[in-house]
Amino acid sequence: MSSSLEQINLIMQLRKHGIHDTRVLRAMELVPREEFVAQAFRDQAYADAALPIACGQTISQPYIVAYMTEKLGVGRDDIVLEIGTGTGYQSAILSQLCRHVYTIERYKELQKSASANLARIGVTNVTTIIGDGWIGWPPKAPYDAIIVTAAAPEPPGALLEQLKTGGRMILPLGETRETQFITQIDKTEDGLEQKELLPVRFVPLVKGRVKRR
Ligand code: SAH
Repeated sequence: MSSSLEQINLIMQLRKHGIHDTRVLRAMELVPREEFVAQAFRDQAYADAALPIACGQTISQPYIVAYMTEKLGVGRDDIVLEIGTGTGYQSAILSQLCRHVYTIERYKELQKSASANLARIGVTNVTTIIGDGWIGWPPKAPYDAIIVTAAAPEPPGALLEQLKTGGRMILPLGETRETQFITQIDKTEDGLEQKELLPVRFVPLVKGRVKRR
């Protein structure tokens, strides 16, 4: 993977807005975002804006992807669980920073296209799964880190259980779109430590049947 002028420009913007982790910036520079957005939005792929994707969902703006990734603080050997695959873009960024990413999506259509997007750019350490993020993915638990890219009113209990002690979860939490915050939850020997980081607006983490067709 190589970087274009637009990608380098994006990195400069991210730096200006306070993203400093060089591994995260490098991943943002290397992953071609245009491969994850529909043809109609390719000219906006590097704008710092959320864009619509299939199934009425959205791909987050690059700043939020970088911010959540930086806060997640994953290491090279980490196994990461992501809830809300969408296009696979966030998974691709994480794939550059850790050993393996398991990512769950409730729409089969999105899971299939994310899997194709990741293969096209040569990512081999992401497993895409069709399922319900509220119940996580027990077969590979516990995880070093968990990232949720859809908003929930409370942290899903199953995900807290599937997080290693010493691990971290980053997720948008809030009852309504107006009251969401990216939230950091650290699981320590003494229990869970939760802090609100940044006000945001994400699509909801849906409770309901997985869309297998
Ligand atoms: N991270 C994505 C964007 C995610 S948008 C990217 O980089 O493109 C949020 C995604 O969460 C949507 O695709 C939505 O279908 C999915 N989602 C919502 N509720 C879910 C649930 N209960 N289980 C799994 N995925 C869910």
